[in-house]
Amino acid sequence: MNKKEVDILIKNTSYLDENFQVKEHVSIAVSDGTIQKIYTENPTALQAVDIIDGSGLLWMPGLVDGHMHTGQQLLKGAVLDELPMIWTRIMLPFESTLTPEKMRLSAGLAALEMIKNGTTGFIDAGSYYMEEAAKVYVISGLRGALSHSSMDQGNFPDSIRQTTQEVLKSQDRLYDAFHGKGNLKVFYSLRALMNCSPELTAATAQRALDRNTFYQAHMNEYAGEVNYTLQNYQMRPVEYLESLNALNNRFIAAHGIMLSSHERALLEKVGAKVVHCPFSNCGKGVPNTPDLLERGICTGLGTDGTAHGGLSLWNEMKIFRSVMNAFWGTGNADPAVMPARTILKIATENGSKILGEENCGVLKEGYKADMISVNWRQPQLLATNNKVNTLLECVVGNDINDSIVNGKLLMRNRQVQTLDEEKLMWQAEHYFATGEVIE
Ligand SMILES: [Zn+2]
Repeated sequence: MNKKEVDILIKNTSYLDENFQVKEHVSIAVSDGTIQKIYTENPTALQAVDIIDGSGLLWMPGLVDGHMHTGQQLLKGAVLDELPMIWTRIMLPFESTLTPEKMRLSAGLAALEMIKNGTTGFIDAGSYYMEEAAKVYVISGLRGALSHSSMDQGNFPDSIRQTTQEVLKSQDRLYDAFHGKGNLKVFYSLRALMNCSPELTAATAQRALDRNTFYQAHMNEYAGEVNYTLQNYQMRPVEYLESLNALNNRFIAAHGIMLSSHERALLEKVGAKVVHCPFSNCGKGVPNTPDLLERGICTGLGTDGTAHGGLSLWNEMKIFRSVMNAFWGTGNADPAVMPARTILKIATENGSKILGEENCGVLKEGYKADMISVNWRQPQLLATNNKVNTLLECVVGNDINDSIVNGKLLMRNRQVQTLDEEKLMWQAEHYFATGEVIE
């Protein structure tokens, strides 16, 4: 009898199933980009191109960073404890000096940081020279969505000032070049409503609908931003979007902190999505996530880019849990206001939905093979009474052993397969020593 061949066979391992229960003593076959079969007995009649000894590993769906900034990758450590507004004082001036070389280095470093931290999918909030970032991300093998930084009003340096038509053209150009290329998509974006004219806001939402993709904006992040639409349009930000016919199920509201109950009801009504960035949000406010989830609003987590505490979603999940418990849990004497299973689902399954993926974000037969393994043979993880709780409480990015995206190994035994880590580290050291990028 001929043995059947698959791409990857992970033998004698354990995994986190769709109900967030740990299943032990299984083998997992991956082929053609999907999780083909999960065996409870050793599959003897099966050959594989790659065989992984899965003993001591716990496999789970990859994490999705629903809001990050490739264009701020070289700002790590630059904003902590800085006075407001860091966006106008630090982020924007830096982004206005980006070059193609800096963006290629930024994307390489961001991809490396994500892969090594167990992130398999991401949504970039938008910057400049995104075509250069896209070329690197295609090579990285990550699943991701990219955007152009879209602003047509405000006081900007000349290098990034654009008219409404120029912004729309830049968004279209990125979409035409990279949507569907490799594992990439292109989303339309509004950087923030304060920096977008009503014309650009409405046109961007329409473009996303016409092109069957998504659009995103920084939403309800600061009081000043909420006050802007209240003062200029006598409406809160989400209400203003609705008034422009720019609110639908293709919309992703990044941050989503200061949402009124009427705004949450509007998001629910249209099926829009929300992404919180816990570390970044701590200095701004606490979102009403229990209510968002109760309403069935698909809510995900993001890092807000490496300048806000790095690209590890393991950190974000712990901070999210702490903030939810300190604010909503203690207020109502509810210790399980945001359980570990819910948070893991938010960072995996919900993240994949926000990325617009179907049959993804769950480790299940027939689903896309976007999965990571945690090396459980470590002092901080072994001998636990509850692996799911320990995943949330104790696992950090360095515990991720392997990463598979769309059925392809991006990292094996912590060795990244798709990028030249040594060269990127050397480039990064050189950049921080001299301010120059060498390639
Ligand atoms: Zn952001």
